[in-house]
Amino acid sequence: MKRFVFPGSFDPITLGHQDIILRALPLCDELIIAVGENSEKKYLFSLEERMKFISKTHGENPKIKIESFEGLTINFCKKVNATALVRGLRNPADFEFEKSIAQMNRRLSGIETLFLLTAADYSYISSSIVREIIRHDGDFSSLVPEAVRIEK
Ligand code: ADP
Repeated sequence: MKRFVFPGSFDPITLGHQDIILRALPLCDELIIAVGENSEKKYLFSLEERMKFISKTHGENPKIKIESFEGLTINFCKKVNATALVRGLRNPADFEFEKSIAQMNRRLSGIETLFLLTAADYSYISSSIVREIIRHDGDFSSLVPEAVRIEK
């Protein structure tokens, strides 16, 4: 049973996240979308809202589970007995940042990280840009799944 964990803040989920989810799915038997909650981070959307956007978008897919976690991602991976972590790569800055985390995670837990390169159409999308547009009342409808569009 190949169980992948796709961890992130998903504040909010974007079409970039969605692309990685849909492309990771055929590679595994189960994909856990793990929504991080870090008391030191300030989110625009609450944990409940972030999870609701994802479950409205992907909740009916039997291969997808949506869970929240606090603390180290590798501890969550061990708890759910994950085969591998999935992360998206948009640009060289993502790579540099993700490389050391993936190496550290593997050293500490043996868990591999699989990287999927972003689709060219979505590489400019980030949750932080979406949040900035939301704060300034801009039109973010082409950047996020339907569930996020309806809510805000
Ligand atoms: P984190 O706070 O852990 O970076 P995010 O929700 O910002 O959480 O991102 C979660 C994952 O989704 C990361 O691997 C990130 O690289 C990936 N991701 C975010 N936006 C995109 C995008 N537009 N295309 C591909 N992957 C993306």
